[in-house]
Amino acid sequence: MCFRPTVAVKKTVKCPKCGEVNPLPLSIDSSMKDIMENESGKAIIENHCAAVLADPRFKTALGMTLKQIRPMSGGKVTPDMIQAVGNELAELPKPKCISCGEEISLTKGAAGPAGPKGPSGPSGPK
Ligand SMILES: [Zn+2]
Repeated sequence: MCFRPTVAVKKTVKCPKCGEVNPLPLSIDSSMKDIMENESGKAIIENHCAAVLADPRFKTALGMTLKQIRPMSGGKVTPDMIQAVGNELAELPKPKCISCGEEISLTKGAAGPAGPKGPSGPSGPK
């Protein structure tokens, strides 16, 4: 069994049940645009990052994550803010698979259920 760690930021996640490609659940590593397009995510950002939203430069940073915005925010984005937003995003209800309704979750840190079996792409010889 080969499990490849996801190093690159992926925009989609495959359903563990049916293999349908779903958008990634929101996390602190989601771009601000993705978070703001979600009603719950937007509320979290508005709650914690009002000062950032008020900054006109924010509009040019929508494609970035909060972590990426921090170094250039002039102190508007703080580690505490990132922590708080990340925690609340993690508490949002898990999105359901667009195809079969299975719950989609990010397996981050804790060892979750085993991934889907079978190769889903070209795999080299052993
Ligand atoms: Zn599914």
